[in-house]
Amino acid sequence: MPDTTERTTGTCPQCGAGIRADERFTAWCAACDWNVDPARPEERPGRRERTQRALARRHGERLHAEVTSGRPLRPRRDASAVLAQVIALAVHGTTAVLVVAGVWLLLVGLGGAGMVLGPVLLVLAWVLRPRFPGLSAKGPVLRRADAPELYALVDEIAAVVGTRGVDAIAIDPDVNASVTTYGVRGRRLLTLGLPLWETLTPQQRIAILGHELGHYAHGDIRHGHVVATAYWSLTTWHYMLAPIARPSLAEMAANLFGLVPRLLVRGLLTLLDHLTLRATQRAEYLADAAAARAGSTEAAVGFMDRLLVGDSLVTALRREAGTARTGRRDAGRGEAARADGLWARLAEHAETIPEHEYERRRRAGALRGHAVDSTHPPTHLRRACLLHGEPLPPAVTADDGRERRIAAELADARGMLARELVRYGVRG
Ligand SMILES: [Zn+2]
Ligand SMILES: [Zn+2]
Repeated sequence: MPDTTERTTGTCPQCGAGIRADERFTAWCAACDWNVDPARPEERPGRRERTQRALARRHGERLHAEVTSGRPLRPRRDASAVLAQVIALAVHGTTAVLVVAGVWLLLVGLGGAGMVLGPVLLVLAWVLRPRFPGLSAKGPVLRRADAPELYALVDEIAAVVGTRGVDAIAIDPDVNASVTTYGVRGRRLLTLGLPLWETLTPQQRIAILGHELGHYAHGDIRHGHVVATAYWSLTTWHYMLAPIARPSLAEMAANLFGLVPRLLVRGLLTLLDHLTLRATQRAEYLADAAAARAGSTEAAVGFMDRLLVGDSLVTALRREAGTARTGRRDAGRGEAARADGLWARLAEHAETIPEHEYERRRRAGALRGHAVDSTHPPTHLRRACLLHGEPLPPAVTADDGRERRIAAELADARGMLARELVRYGVRG
């Protein structure tokens, strides 16, 4: 990205070096990292937090070393991923045992007791059952017939990364892209955040589609779903086993009785946390490799950088929405006019973000290191991994005609989301 807008505007209060700045962005010092991360969240103290951070860092470093060791990173399930699956299946197995026991008690009866206990177990199993989310989206959902060219592109990229295409594509107002499944049969939903999509080059779009489809190809979504539903069941157990507050003598006995299972459930939840953290970090590196295969290494690095400045895009959108509302009284016309050029102005804003802002965010990410709650390894490590080997050429490209046809398919969604953003502002 060109650096033409930068100029030296001051000196660093910490080391006296010259600071290049752009009034739209944080001023910081490249020589000594002064002010490189002013928005760094307060670190919560506490031993559990510290242990988790240390674990996340240790695993992250080991994984990074493996990725850059020269051997290709294969989508093998490491021990932690396998263990997470085993625990998850055991949790669902427990629910299945409740069903069997409930039915058995109903059949045998046990002199009336079974007629009471049986239904109780069946209701419990129903509450704990694995759930399959329906199709839900914050914006319009495009089916194959609505967007044949976009679907064709997704199919082509899917074939490159070794999977099939998707069943639904949702367009939403987030600076993000994601994949998930819905329904009992595990149909595939790809969600494209328009503020991200509109600020990427055609090649970067192919790369990010490669990343997302890579998650399907490597089984992350399927395995993730098994663990997520088990996690939900365990959370429900934990809730049901919660001790009774201000107990009577009998309730105190019940609390004591529930103590061991409660500790066991809590231990399993913590364990699943750790195990899935490791599995998801590996999955992200692998998805990045799929992104580079589909769209080229350069394009994969490009979309990663764009995600890095995601909140700057959100700020720009907020400004757009704010101007629209505090504008003139004839809000109706003003709104329509502003919604009209919204995506073009956002793309222009993204285009003019100076390189020193990208660099600041990379360094801030490096300083923060492996966050415990983050499923993604820090961007500087993901970048380093991509740039480690030979840069890959794109396997899929989009010509002008294809780009235009996809843009036409997205036109309705663009208009609708722009009007919504201008009218209601940026949510969340
Ligand atoms: Zn300095
Ligand atoms: Zn990912």
